[in-house]
Amino acid sequence: MARRKKIYEGKAKILYEGPEPGTIVQYFKDDATAFNAQKKDVIEGKGVLNNRLSEYFMTGLAQIGVPTHFIKRINMREQLCRSCEIIPLEIIVRNYAAGSMSTRLGIEEGTQLPRPIVEYCYKDDALGDPLVTEEYIAAFGWASQQDMDDILSLALRVNDFLSGVMFAVGIKLVDFKIEVGRVYEGDFQRLIVADEISPDSCRLWDMETGQKLDKDVFRRDLGNLADAYTEVARRLGVLPKNASPITKPTLIN
Ligand code: UDP
Repeated sequence: MARRKKIYEGKAKILYEGPEPGTIVQYFKDDATAFNAQKKDVIEGKGVLNNRLSEYFMTGLAQIGVPTHFIKRINMREQLCRSCEIIPLEIIVRNYAAGSMSTRLGIEEGTQLPRPIVEYCYKDDALGDPLVTEEYIAAFGWASQQDMDDILSLALRVNDFLSGVMFAVGIKLVDFKIEVGRVYEGDFQRLIVADEISPDSCRLWDMETGQKLDKDVFRRDLGNLADAYTEVARRLGVLPKNASPITKPTLIN
């Protein structure tokens, strides 16, 4: 790892140059941040869990024909991915009101929405990732109309897939965020799901008890974050069913 050239270090991941042109290595850190990095901690085991969970979701998406940047997991903390040009938007899909939507509109958390709502935030930490409209996106050239059509279709497909996968293990998918990147193939470009899909970027509630199994555990001081992520991994079969709450997880494969 030390020999790899660092391309970028974010709040939860480091990107390194990959072994082949057109590839990158994503390294998952144990760092947890919230409220635009005003709250920070190191949660032992989080990076390992998110690496494995993101692999699980991205692999499943590829199997149903949703293109992603994921190529293969390299080790406990790293995965090989296709490099792409990230569109500077956080694409949020909501099935139930929560978080900033509840605050903004005064809708009680957990209220089921009449249909999935997709919203866009401009990726800029200094500005706190502000919510933007499609008119802003077109006017500032962040994405074309064709890109927006493709992004909407990708976001809804990811929503259907993740909702189903979670439903099967007794978890409600409240909302999530994805990022999308552009890849060039000859004269064509297409969009693929990039970054990560993990409990860091989703809201996941136990269907029966309403227990939170996502980053809100950290944001709102509700308990041990690694235990919550371990529970998600265990239910999905990514960790053995009898795995103890982890600090150093034993992973299947
Ligand atoms: N989200 C994320 N990264 C961000 C902002 C939001 O992964 O920078 C996810 C968040 O975990 C949640 C969804 O997007 O699953 C909607 O977040 P919301 O807008 O409610 O913001 P928050 O309440 O987290 O500030």
